[in-house]
Amino acid sequence: MPQFRALSLASTLVSLFLTAAAPTPNGRSTRVPGAPIRILVYHDMEGLAGQDDWRTFLFSHPEKYPEGQKMLAADLNAVIDGLFVGGATQVDVVDAHGSGNPEPDVRRDLLDPRAKQVFRDKAFDPYVDLTAPNVYDAVVAVAMHAKTGSHGFASHTITLGMDMQINGKSITESEIVGYSWGQVGVPVIFVSGDDHLQKDLEVMPWIEYVITKKATSASTAELLPVDQVHAEMREKAARAVRNIPKAKIMTLTTPMQAALHAAPPASLSSLAEVPGIHYANETVTFTAPDFRAAYEGVLGLVTAARAGYPEVLTETVSKQPNGQKILADNRDSLFMRWMDYESGRWTPPPRPSPRANKTYFGDR
Ligand SMILES: [Zn+2]
Repeated sequence: MPQFRALSLASTLVSLFLTAAAPTPNGRSTRVPGAPIRILVYHDMEGLAGQDDWRTFLFSHPEKYPEGQKMLAADLNAVIDGLFVGGATQVDVVDAHGSGNPEPDVRRDLLDPRAKQVFRDKAFDPYVDLTAPNVYDAVVAVAMHAKTGSHGFASHTITLGMDMQINGKSITESEIVGYSWGQVGVPVIFVSGDDHLQKDLEVMPWIEYVITKKATSASTAELLPVDQVHAEMREKAARAVRNIPKAKIMTLTTPMQAALHAAPPASLSSLAEVPGIHYANETVTFTAPDFRAAYEGVLGLVTAARAGYPEVLTETVSKQPNGQKILADNRDSLFMRWMDYESGRWTPPPRPSPRANKTYFGDR
């Protein structure tokens, strides 16, 4: 679901690409002493300090989500403060979570007023659609989670049961951000999340990493003192800015092998017998000309792998007192949709087009 907000807040927000300049020959922004240092901060919502209840990152749980919003602003403000202390001159924040809230998960009234929120007039994917040369000098990712299969708190990649792989290795969303910005010479310099994500990110040894909690399962965590975590965030975010020139830019040789592996509740087994598709063990592999193509191919497979989700829906509905009736109605509805379309009585509704007076904070 696209996110949007009335344009009345536009003056407090920042529009991207207004500051874009021509790319440098090596792709990396030229660093001149005294030059502005522009940082883009991604945030997710599963790797928060003080958080051990998964309902705090879901808009569909109004009894808990507001607590998550407060924890999110607190983590972000500690990092933002550290970035400015370290010498950042501009800090923009983009919502990469997708809680289901049509507004950004970050409450403007709680966010450090020095930071601006990224918006656009049409839906965008924060991981790949913001990537452009000479707009930012470094990227930071706050409240991130470990990858599918790593047994972290709410560990997943992109969405439930999906495991994105590049050249045979599973990657985290933090690496998706790194490879996306690596295409234009911009490094990731700081990440926060649980102790399992820290292990996942041993492949990025140059980043400053702050452990926010210790995961004891995908739905439980042992918390650390929040004030202590925030102090560490300030210190490491400041150091990350000072060390930008030492940060590694993540690049991949092209073409590359990309894959999606599906784990419950997702499944790719419906594609097993399709000729021309490289399928083995719930994994579909393909060759991509660049990272963006790899990511978009994986997103297409994510949609296919959601074929596993209705199994849970059927179980959930079956447990309801009138569950069998709902399932029977659903079967009839499917038949009616088919027969109505076949008879010319029903046509698919047009896809909603972006409206001029809407503001989007992401694509989810
Ligand atoms: Zn995420």
